[in-house]
Amino acid sequence: MEETLKPTLKNGHIDMPVPDGIDLRAEIARMKKEKNAVILAHYYTTAEVQEIADYTGDSLGLSQQAAKTDADIIVFAGVHFMAETAKVLSPNKKVLIPDLATSCSLADSVNEKSLAEFIKKYPNHTVISYVNTTAEVKALTDIVVTSSNAVKIVSQLPKDEPIIFGPDRNLGNYVKKVTGRENMVIWDGGCHVHDHFDANSLAELKKQHPSAKVLAHPECNESILAQADVIGATSALLKASYELPETEFIVATEPGIFYEMTKRSPNKTFIPVPNEHGHPLNVCVNMKRNSLKKIYLTLKYEFPEVDLPEELSRKAKVCIERMMAMS
Ligand code: SF4
Repeated sequence: MEETLKPTLKNGHIDMPVPDGIDLRAEIARMKKEKNAVILAHYYTTAEVQEIADYTGDSLGLSQQAAKTDADIIVFAGVHFMAETAKVLSPNKKVLIPDLATSCSLADSVNEKSLAEFIKKYPNHTVISYVNTTAEVKALTDIVVTSSNAVKIVSQLPKDEPIIFGPDRNLGNYVKKVTGRENMVIWDGGCHVHDHFDANSLAELKKQHPSAKVLAHPECNESILAQADVIGATSALLKASYELPETEFIVATEPGIFYEMTKRSPNKTFIPVPNEHGHPLNVCVNMKRNSLKKIYLTLKYEFPEVDLPEELSRKAKVCIERMMAMS
């Protein structure tokens, strides 16, 4: 039988030209049907990627979607740990990722070795990890949380149960504050986007738009959260944007969410908060690596694939299932 040759990867993705004049959207739609594939896209990807996705969402929504889809192939337009989570939840499905180099600065701030050493320093602590972690880190974790359910899950643990929380220090401190727990040891990691919104620019924007509500993600640091009207996961901020009566919102999360916010509320205004370097759009460069061309090539060649050793996958699944049961 003739073997299909896999194309080579350059910088994590298939690097080859597509035929002139090809309609990428139509071709992706045709292949999705032919191969029984679904495309999951995170809210931080570009508008053109979200437009062609079967499901858009944040980490929790997409993990749940990955678990219940009947498709044979999942194309995950997000970042690498999300595709890993999809593979853990759907071991019999082929999970494809348009670009293997879609890392996450937060997930990269902790690895298996550093976490194992930390756990030794704090024995008898329940290990809670944010979903933004590798499968190896999840395998050392007792319960995974997302920004949507972190407060809810930590609140369910007995008050005297000591906790290691990682890797996001801002989310950890926020959960600690809201739940009033003192016995939380927090890993010192951060997201290169959310940890770097500029608090002075936000204060200035509030003066310029006095009737606007400020929506902020709990991965933002305290100087931003202290100025926010609503603090929540991306999906919670989206919900606030269409449920609240205000027509102007200053938004401190990755601006990819503006696509869905504007789609739901075309007559409202969404204002981004600049980053500390004065850049008006504080974007996640990893999420923006996903593109229509890469999705097309990935679906066509069914490559690159995210696969995990069975034992690692089995261990990583335990803490995700605990999260699902407690959310
Ligand atoms: S926005 Fe931050 S936490 Fe989210 S994927 Fe990008 S680097 Fe990771």
